[in-house]
Amino acid sequence: MLKPNENGYYGEFGGRYVPPQLIPVLDEVTEAFLQYKDDPDFTEELDYYLTQYVGRPNPLYFCGKLTQKISGAQIYLKREDLNHTGAHKINNTIGQVLLAKRLGKKRIIAETGAGQHGVATATACALFDMECIIYMGEVDIKRQALNVFRMELLGAKVVPVTRGTKTLKDAVDEALEDLIKNYDHTYYMLGSAVGPHPYPWMVQHFQSIIGREAKKQILEAAGRLPDYLVACVGGGSNAIGLFSPFYQDKEVKIVGVEPGGKGIETGEHAASLSIGEPGVIHGFKCYTLMDEKGEPLPVHSVAAGLDYPGVGPEHSYYKDTGRAEYVSITDQEALDAFVELSRVEGIIPAIESSHAVAYGMKLAQKLSPDQILIINLSGRGDKDVQQVAEMVENGQYIVK
Ligand SMILES: *Cc1c(COP(=O)(O)O)cnc(C)c1O
Repeated sequence: MLKPNENGYYGEFGGRYVPPQLIPVLDEVTEAFLQYKDDPDFTEELDYYLTQYVGRPNPLYFCGKLTQKISGAQIYLKREDLNHTGAHKINNTIGQVLLAKRLGKKRIIAETGAGQHGVATATACALFDMECIIYMGEVDIKRQALNVFRMELLGAKVVPVTRGTKTLKDAVDEALEDLIKNYDHTYYMLGSAVGPHPYPWMVQHFQSIIGREAKKQILEAAGRLPDYLVACVGGGSNAIGLFSPFYQDKEVKIVGVEPGGKGIETGEHAASLSIGEPGVIHGFKCYTLMDEKGEPLPVHSVAAGLDYPGVGPEHSYYKDTGRAEYVSITDQEALDAFVELSRVEGIIPAIESSHAVAYGMKLAQKLSPDQILIINLSGRGDKDVQQVAEMVENGQYIVK
């Protein structure tokens, strides 16, 4: 797996672009991460919860019917949707909460947009008796009422953020202010492979269980490595989790799928890697979608979890060095894949994951039956069923 340099850079990407007061806080987290990541007691405790609580290892499922229907490459799904809480995010929050515990912190703060990271954080905090504060934009609170209730049910306090655009960016700002004031007893839990060093590296580490399992499972099932890996990319954590353990296996091709929204040409998308420029956002350098003043542009995706104007530094580096290719899938194509996987395999994917499924199906068609493709099914679609039903009802989406 790739490591950043001492200052947290992958090539020109990553680093720390934060107020000086945060440097000692990030140093403390870095030191703890380095001390514990390979520590036998820490690893044993993490493994225990990943097995007994999250339900790992989850299967690498061979999609016999879908493969037959497409009649191209063999399609396997890594079933992160079967984890407790229904997605990959829990791998990271369990890892980070154990680290916070080692640091003696009793209070966890996080920001959330769609609410999924908030729910995964609140879950880990309930399990480890941590006070849990979730910053969430007022606009997002209205849009994601059910996730707000879930977090509260899990014992978290959801703090409405009323400044600026009242969305994710403002929630990040408010969480960072809290951290600067309270860091002696507070730990900041970041939800994707983004943010200042060491977060992208730490999130890669905790999510890499996905790729480590998948590698072992495909060697058992097929006796060789896959030809392609495909995963959706929002901030990039489920994707880097699958990709990073295969980084050195140059024969394995890597494809990240970004949200193309209503089509790249309409400007309504969140395809940071496909058409963004290098810039600084939320404390680190990556490919971003920004205006001339350096302000993050409004982004759009039918998948709330992919709606982010930046992307992890490791992905930015994979793109520049050609280790991975990044493509985009539109809202329409993702919704078609959401329906297709449900019908053909009886698996309802998250709309985020449906982006990977959509591209995986297109790709498989062009390949031969002796080739192997692994798609990361980052989450289950139960959370999205109502949204799709409403889109069908008001004619925004027509089921073929
Ligand atoms: C949050 C989320 C994503 C996007 O986040 P990444 O950090 O890019 O993985 C993708 N799929 C699901 C199911 C999610 O909940």
